[in-house]
Amino acid sequence: MRFLIPITALFLICASCARQDRHADYVLEWKGDGLKVTLKVNTPLDTVRFTYASDNGGQKDQMSWFQDFAVDRGSVSIDSASRTLTIVPRRNQAEFSYVVRCTLPEGYGSPGGCLMDVFRPDIDGDMLFSRTENIFAVPVDDEDMPVTVEWASTPPYPVFCMYNPGKGTDRFQGVAGDIAWSVMAGDPLLTVDTVMVGGRKHYLVTALRKEADLNKKQLKEYFHSFYGTISDFWGDAYSGPYSMLFFPFRNNTWEATGNGFTNGFFSRYDATADTILTINRRDLFTHEIGHKWLNNGPVWFPEGFNEMQTAYQLVASGLDDPSYFASYFNHALSGLFHNPYRNVPDEEAEEKFWEDGDYIWLLYWRGFSYAFHLCGVYEKETGHPNAWKPIMEAVKPFIDDFTAEKFLTAMASLMDKERLQKDYEKYILQGADFDFFPEDMPSGCRIVRNSEGVPRLEITDEAAFAKHFQ
Ligand SMILES: [Zn+2]
Repeated sequence: MRFLIPITALFLICASCARQDRHADYVLEWKGDGLKVTLKVNTPLDTVRFTYASDNGGQKDQMSWFQDFAVDRGSVSIDSASRTLTIVPRRNQAEFSYVVRCTLPEGYGSPGGCLMDVFRPDIDGDMLFSRTENIFAVPVDDEDMPVTVEWASTPPYPVFCMYNPGKGTDRFQGVAGDIAWSVMAGDPLLTVDTVMVGGRKHYLVTALRKEADLNKKQLKEYFHSFYGTISDFWGDAYSGPYSMLFFPFRNNTWEATGNGFTNGFFSRYDATADTILTINRRDLFTHEIGHKWLNNGPVWFPEGFNEMQTAYQLVASGLDDPSYFASYFNHALSGLFHNPYRNVPDEEAEEKFWEDGDYIWLLYWRGFSYAFHLCGVYEKETGHPNAWKPIMEAVKPFIDDFTAEKFLTAMASLMDKERLQKDYEKYILQGADFDFFPEDMPSGCRIVRNSEGVPRLEITDEAAFAKHFQ
């Protein structure tokens, strides 16, 4: 017994030293036409793996913008297919560098429309825009690894880093998870304004070509009224600063597209636009803010249920009236009905998600329809018209680690379990058409079909329908 104590103590001391020793330090250097990243890795391990970029947006050519690779310490082998760097450190340290260089050509088009323009970096003397997974190689399965980011030299224009909000290119210290899914943007016209909501500072980042004062005013007002409402709904309100980044496309006239993260969102839009806050863009921003909460699990949930949340919150926050919910839902119903893949099983649709825009929208609209269906079933069983709230409250405990199994278990406490399982298999897994039986409808509305069979939501009792949002 007496011998065991010092041995155990020794082991514990070593283990904690080893944990403390591991870190990754990134130094960024502006090269005029690209961003040089020097990565110094400290690790007690014999090998450690990092991953570069993702296949989001259906990208397959990420390694083409990963250039001028050089190793100073240790050795690094790269598997281009999985974009994984396997590092064998020398005396617990490795150091290597690479340059991220990618500019979208004039008139660039892609199978996913504007999607690839959003996921690809766009870096040169006039503009810096990149999702951070395209800049930083990040440790595989080690979101807690301590990291620092320093800029040895910066572009000749202001830069905003969503992981370091309000601090520009100042030194950042955090963990790998902070920088793995984020965005950085720079532009000669870039401005950073603060918006106070709930006594906390949030950031409005724009690079406006037109009507700067008017656009900023409208965006601030929108954020102020909407963010307060949705934060109150989730009850976790104003934790940390939230950043909204509105950035013009260089050579794309898409109205807008966006991406939501837990601490902010970005939207890229048609640079020729006079007014940023059109109805379509407002709805897009609302959807992206919604991803702060709904951002995990099979696509039908973070996208489809987030569409339901978008339509619901636009009404609940007073930005629009209940009839707008109906028109928003009808757009989805019509899109779903006319989708060539509308009866494709969930597994196949998830697999082919980035292959074709129709697969993408299929899962948004199928999930939205399913959420609407569940609200009706909940109201039928409990008599409570505002079904969305208890449904979201039931998923809240596992919102960051969402699985279909957990979801079904949580929903089974709100409604008939057998019915729930049967409907999930039918409408989500198998992709059958939604029946929208009259007896399952939320109160104050019904589904009507035109001669082609396209379903449409019709409000039959405005006062009863409005109760769903109160
Ligand atoms: Zn989304």
